[in-house]
Amino acid sequence: MASQSPERNEIEQLDRKYTLGTWTRQQDFDPTQIVDTDGPRLVTADGTSILDFSSQYVCTSLGYDADRVADAVAEQVRSVPYVSPGWSTEPRARLSEKLAEITPGSLQKTFYSTSGTEANEVAFKIARAYTGKHKILSRYRSYHGATAASLSASGDPRRVAQGPEIQPEVPGMIKGPDPYAYGSSLDPAESLAYIDEMLKLEGGTVAGVLVEPLVGSNGVLTPPDDYLPQLQQIAHDHGAVLICDEVMTGFGRTGEWFASTLYDAEPDIITMAKGLTGSYQPLAATTVTEEIAEYFEDTLLNQGHTFAGHPTACAAGVAAIETYEREGLIENAREIGQYLTSKLESLVERHPSVGERRGIGLHQGLELTRSEKERVPFEARADKVSSSTTVLDEVGADALANGVYFYTSVNTIVVTPPLTITEQAVDEAVDVLDEALEISDAAM
Ligand code: PLP
Repeated sequence: MASQSPERNEIEQLDRKYTLGTWTRQQDFDPTQIVDTDGPRLVTADGTSILDFSSQYVCTSLGYDADRVADAVAEQVRSVPYVSPGWSTEPRARLSEKLAEITPGSLQKTFYSTSGTEANEVAFKIARAYTGKHKILSRYRSYHGATAASLSASGDPRRVAQGPEIQPEVPGMIKGPDPYAYGSSLDPAESLAYIDEMLKLEGGTVAGVLVEPLVGSNGVLTPPDDYLPQLQQIAHDHGAVLICDEVMTGFGRTGEWFASTLYDAEPDIITMAKGLTGSYQPLAATTVTEEIAEYFEDTLLNQGHTFAGHPTACAAGVAAIETYEREGLIENAREIGQYLTSKLESLVERHPSVGERRGIGLHQGLELTRSEKERVPFEARADKVSSSTTVLDEVGADALANGVYFYTSVNTIVVTPPLTITEQAVDEAVDVLDEALEISDAAM
């Protein structure tokens, strides 16, 4: 993010000089230093306080005051900071037990890694070994990670815009349509029929159908309530497992522990990261059903990482889940989510450039449009360096200049505050957004 202050301080200059920025041209890498945090707020080096309505990459779900998690990390670092995954530790065992309890259906055993990307790569490997098939079917509006296979499974416009270092894709990754109603030519039922037909035509070679139950960074796309169970049935009819990527939607964002529960689905595999530790530590997980776990009793599970089940990260995971429970944060996401919904709907009413509000709980988004009637997005950025549009970037920059940070992606203002958020903070953020949206109204 561009520096707030016209002058770069020493740290910002060092960072700019010696760090390669992610997902950006280096000439655009101009980050602002964060020196402190306070609840849902970030404090910059010049003392500016920013209300974070993104939860960063939709991951700091506990805000920045989760002392219990910080203490658990500190205690673990002092006792057993690390052992390799072949040894047992209390935090890993307790976390695995807890995940079996809060995940839907018969999801039972967990494989650990350190990023959502890896969790999905692990899911591919498990699905392939278990089904004896090799292809992965995902959807065009999706993001599943940054390494070769997970990026090939992503239909993200950011990926499509990339150069030869990313293309060509890993073989065996195929994509179907999303149940995206706004501005799409297929309705959700047609998109399901399309996937069914694809699986038929692939002739039983698909190991896993991979979806974000409620799409995140591709524009917060909400499926119809009965979509996910139907998709699961279709996958099973063709001998494939359903993999739900809950890296972003997991841990209460939608007002349920997992969005799969919200939609009454019982996935065969769930992948998670981000909210698992509230991002106090990097940790990811791939949880599989009892049946899949049983398959590996006498079959090699051919995968592992040095930091798999890192004790300190697992200690953060246990304490994070206790914090969600003790502080009623899942319920808060549901309740404040309803309040947020009504406030965002009022923005749809007031601003012609806000085409649609989507999402649920504290996983919401506003899609911008330059024509209400024809539902057309604003023009993509001419420099093609991101999936954003110039107008969207301007709206985001204006909100930031007035003290509130929103994540903006694929023509959508993503509204995903920490689960600790209050009604007053929602009012503050929506007021700032209300003003910023004058920019997109004027650009229509
Ligand atoms: N899956 C989803 C749905 C995501 O939103 C992300 C990251 O934003 C990933 C996977 C990749 O996770 P990570 O960045 O931890 O590798």
